[in-house]
Amino acid sequence: MNTDAQAEIKISDYPVEGKFGKYGGRFAPEILMPALLELEAAYEQAKASPEFQAALRDYQINYGGRPTPIYEAKRLTNHFKGAKILLKREDLVHGGAHKFNNVMGQALLAQHMGKKRLIAETGAGQHGVASAMAGAVLGIPTEVYMGKVDMERQKPNVYRMKLMGAKVHTVESGTATLKDATSEAMRNWSATVADTHYIIGSVVGPHPYPMMVRDFQAVIGDEIKGQLLREQGRLPDVLVACVGGGSNAMGTFYPFVEDKEVKFLGAEAGGSNNQHAASLSQGAVGVLHGAKSYLLQDEEGQTQATHSISAGLDYPGVGPEHALYKDIKRAEYIAITDEQALEGFRWLSELEGIIPALETAHAVYAGVMRAKSMKKDKIVVITVSGRGDKDLETVFGLENTMAGGHL
Ligand SMILES: *Cc1c(COP(=O)(O)O)cnc(C)c1O
Repeated sequence: MNTDAQAEIKISDYPVEGKFGKYGGRFAPEILMPALLELEAAYEQAKASPEFQAALRDYQINYGGRPTPIYEAKRLTNHFKGAKILLKREDLVHGGAHKFNNVMGQALLAQHMGKKRLIAETGAGQHGVASAMAGAVLGIPTEVYMGKVDMERQKPNVYRMKLMGAKVHTVESGTATLKDATSEAMRNWSATVADTHYIIGSVVGPHPYPMMVRDFQAVIGDEIKGQLLREQGRLPDVLVACVGGGSNAMGTFYPFVEDKEVKFLGAEAGGSNNQHAASLSQGAVGVLHGAKSYLLQDEEGQTQATHSISAGLDYPGVGPEHALYKDIKRAEYIAITDEQALEGFRWLSELEGIIPALETAHAVYAGVMRAKSMKKDKIVVITVSGRGDKDLETVFGLENTMAGGHL
């Protein structure tokens, strides 16, 4: 039973004291506490500061290319004969993905806080690239931690980071992917908190990160809302986004959270051969990287090795706000396999001339299947979190062993 006090809390009010229901929190080593409290205070101040918001807006518009278009995918819609499919084009943001929205906000905040150095972890390399970009444009030295395995499968992004002046640290521990890079970045931050800001790349980590990253990414959903009301005269029926840590999905969903008629669908990495990264669909509650949420762990509580065709979804945890949305059934989360994602990748490429990131391709498959089951007068919006240039080598490598061009 809800008490009156609980009943008064709207979903949009979360986090309350750093927590999303029982999820989130600040499970961090003592040495990081002062930095987390400093960050929280600085963020609250920046959020209320018209000067900070104007500076961020200026970078979003004139440097980042916002607002991004919302595009009616007519051929995709006609091919599947269901609901109208609209695409929110975050692939057109400077850097090629939604990561910029968060990174620019955090980098500006770090500058306001007088920090002299930026560090970041990266999986697909997109967050590292965005951090290197922000470091370059603000003149702040930037260092990026990246797993060795990811460096091999995302070489062009390693080159991009280096070209923009960032230092890239190779992480060889564990599975040498995103989880290990995150652990390494946190270790470095513990030793350098006084002059360094750690730019976390998704709605994960200890409070205030999940809230702050959500707020910076909410520009996606805010724009969708304005664009839909202007161009379609109503709100969408379903919003679809892929979920790694969950930042592009949270940015898409959050501005609609009190609009109960708008359904949320998150697409996680279903992987292949029983190996996956579907923390919400198949995980259990635990603590990872400073927050309580769903994660993939074995019986001893050790995080499991994950697999996804897309480096950006290859993470055993997920943002705590998604864990809350799952439990209260505000959002639905489904696992999309590598093979299904490749199908989504081809649909968008062949029918619309838009090559999506492999992460995005999971959302494309989920969104198209949902749209196919709905009536023509309904509207499905899929957030295209990034472009696929970085994945061409992966896809062509696979095409040699799989049948392509099936449309
Ligand atoms: C990083 C990345 C993702 C996954 O991150 P979220 O925090 O879940 O959004 C998805 N798509 C692209 C293109 C990415 O670069």
